[in-house]
Amino acid sequence: MNTYRMRDDSGASETIEAESLEDAMARTREWAAGGDYDERVMVRIYVHELDPGTEEPYEGWCYGDGQNGLDEVAVGPVPRPPATDCGAADEDHDWQSPGWLGGCRENPGVWSTGGTSFRFRTVCAKCGLYKTEETTGAQRNPSELDATVEYSKPDERSLAWAEESEA
Ligand SMILES: [Zn+2]
Repeated sequence: MNTYRMRDDSGASETIEAESLEDAMARTREWAAGGDYDERVMVRIYVHELDPGTEEPYEGWCYGDGQNGLDEVAVGPVPRPPATDCGAADEDHDWQSPGWLGGCRENPGVWSTGGTSFRFRTVCAKCGLYKTEETTGAQRNPSELDATVEYSKPDERSLAWAEESEA
């Protein structure tokens, strides 16, 4: 077992015992997700393996050296879609990416937002509700923690399209 210090953007920190940096990172993600947040936000997490002699990070440490890690995670309550005819849960909707949404030519509804970040936009084929998801990219685990989600109300265009799709 090694000793790690986990820390997040808020300045909170805690010392834990873990088998490996991966293990410590996983626990730090959980720890950060358990914080008290009013809304869904991204926070940075930091993990340092501690030298048992000094109880500080090993001399000459840097992130990504196998002993110290850095990541960004989405924390806080997962937004629920506003109530529509479809229901009140994300999976009640029929999320699709029609070409009129815009985005890359090859990938309707997908925009690059710089670096490895992407924005995905979909629209419900039943009620016209929009969903926008943002992810910071390829280095992240495809888990619920990795994307922020936002819903926006149907507009004339999506309602017309939803009606057409139904026919
Ligand atoms: Zn819907």
